[in-house]
Amino acid sequence: MYYIGLDVGGTNLAAGVVDRDGNILQKLSRPVDKRMTADELCIELGRLAVDVCAAAGLGIGDISAVGAGFPGMVDNEKGVVISTPNMPFRGTRFRELFRAVCDADVYLGNDAKCAAIGEYMAGAAKGCDPAVVVTLGTGIGGGMVTGGRLFTGYAGSGTEIGHMIIRPGGVPCGCGNRGCWEQYGSATALIRITREEMERSPESLLWELCSGDIGKVQGRTAFDGVKRGDDAARRALDTYLEGLALGLSNIINILHPEVICLGGGISNADDSLLLEPLREMALSNSFDKVTPTRIVKAALGNDAGIVGAALLCNML
Ligand SMILES: [Zn+2]
Repeated sequence: MYYIGLDVGGTNLAAGVVDRDGNILQKLSRPVDKRMTADELCIELGRLAVDVCAAAGLGIGDISAVGAGFPGMVDNEKGVVISTPNMPFRGTRFRELFRAVCDADVYLGNDAKCAAIGEYMAGAAKGCDPAVVVTLGTGIGGGMVTGGRLFTGYAGSGTEIGHMIIRPGGVPCGCGNRGCWEQYGSATALIRITREEMERSPESLLWELCSGDIGKVQGRTAFDGVKRGDDAARRALDTYLEGLALGLSNIINILHPEVICLGGGISNADDSLLLEPLREMALSNSFDKVTPTRIVKAALGNDAGIVGAALLCNML
């Protein structure tokens, strides 16, 4: 049995043929043409599915199901992409448009939830239940597998963990609230915190690390500064870790998952600067100090979205 997973991103559309255990047999990706409408993107995804299938030497008849992970809200029952903040999908009839090009059963999911399925089936959360996957990117995405199924909540909007409020009245968030976790724990947040620390510290080495241009600060800048012994970088990273750990502690105390996998570019930082301090802080805030939740690095990188989307049909 083979499946096709589609990872729908703002810059790239990626597709993979995946077996039932989550192994990728063939992969294809195409850059997103920013002029394309939502309907055109759905048709392009249909073509991509047909092409990746052919590249794997298979026909669409060999495919049990297709799944697509979108960066936003979907209604799988209706086959509609409700909205995506950074792409043009809005009330888009994806299933209908896709099936006009690629005649297979197709399931719709959210990209962060698909990544959780991917890590659970074939990555760092394999065999762990409940498993939570936290993706640290522009925002914070989340997904959970429990009892061998994806947790979706009522109408599919569960595990929007990036929008748990950790600082009432805090930094405004794109969702309309203030003080959401993603304003303190995402890659974007680390960049903001690093810049704020630089503005207070004109002597900091951080300025040298971004060639004097504060606009060039990246998620890794603070980590690089800490490695070179810079005090402002240390303060920035400590502030960031405190916010990140707070959200992780809340997840642990509410759900007590067996494992939390951290994904996204930030998760590639050295364990001694990220995972080890996070484990210590999260444990000290945990109600259960005897059987701690393991906090690990996600294993599949960008492939998690493809694998999870492909196997979405088995997880709903
Ligand atoms: Zn929010």
